[in-house]
Amino acid sequence: MTSPLQGEDRRFDSAPAHQSYKRRKALGQNFLVDEKIAQRIVDAAEIKDDEDILEIGPGRGILTEKLAQMGKSLVAVEKDKWLFTVLNQKLRRENVEIIEGDIMKVDIPDIDVIVSNIPYSISSPLLFHLFETKWDRAVIMFQEEFANRLTAEHGTKQYGRLTVMASVHVKCKKLFRVSRNMFLPQPRVHSVVVELKREAPNYEVKDVKIFDEVVRAIFTHRRKTLKNALKTRFENLELDKLPFMELRGEVLNPEEIANLANEITKLI
Ligand code: SAH
Repeated sequence: MTSPLQGEDRRFDSAPAHQSYKRRKALGQNFLVDEKIAQRIVDAAEIKDDEDILEIGPGRGILTEKLAQMGKSLVAVEKDKWLFTVLNQKLRRENVEIIEGDIMKVDIPDIDVIVSNIPYSISSPLLFHLFETKWDRAVIMFQEEFANRLTAEHGTKQYGRLTVMASVHVKCKKLFRVSRNMFLPQPRVHSVVVELKREAPNYEVKDVKIFDEVVRAIFTHRRKTLKNALKTRFENLELDKLPFMELRGEVLNPEEIANLANEITKLI
């Protein structure tokens, strides 16, 4: 990879020999190299002076350098030892903490806003991991296909388990698309920046486990009617009495699926 970096920033590329292509790939290392896009991402977060920020996978720090000058504090978690070391030397500031670690394993402090271009390979587990902590909103760049599934409307092909399970925790909105040409090395796919607002849904989920089961049944058997899809998991229940049974589950919005799951919870 030819480095687009100048001067001391070239250190990010002079990683020790153990930094193989395979490891870079495993860590999802596609670095954003367009300053304007980086600025747009940071601006979209509308960070206030008293807010604590989290960044996941800062990499060479294109977002980090901007975020470090904003809000009250910044925590950035980077798994790659070399990138961590260089970034940590560059950004020695009182209100900035670069942590070497795996975001799936470190204790995430309470924060207000997340701004990240994340490693795409862990998008789904990472998102649900983040739902376990407290925060208000996030501006995250995802692989385009993932962003489409996350923000899909019910009844569409992209609408699925991800859309419904995420909707329990956040309201999502696509902000803008980023071409794969804006990264080095170039990934095979384009990206989309998504805004996620932490918001309780306007419906209640009485039993999360049953809700999860219902959602799984619906989207594992997308082509079946609800009755037949649900039969695969709840074979002893009298499903006929429930609404929508002759429809496909994928046409229901999250609220309707939650209400249905609540009805099933009552029957069990
Ligand atoms: N945000 C940077 C880098 C994106 S590449 C940019 O926009 O250019 C993804 C980054 O996440 C890489 O730096 C990679 O080393 C890091 N990473 C991968 N898996 C991680 C994990 N589990 N925890 C923390 N960081 C991780």
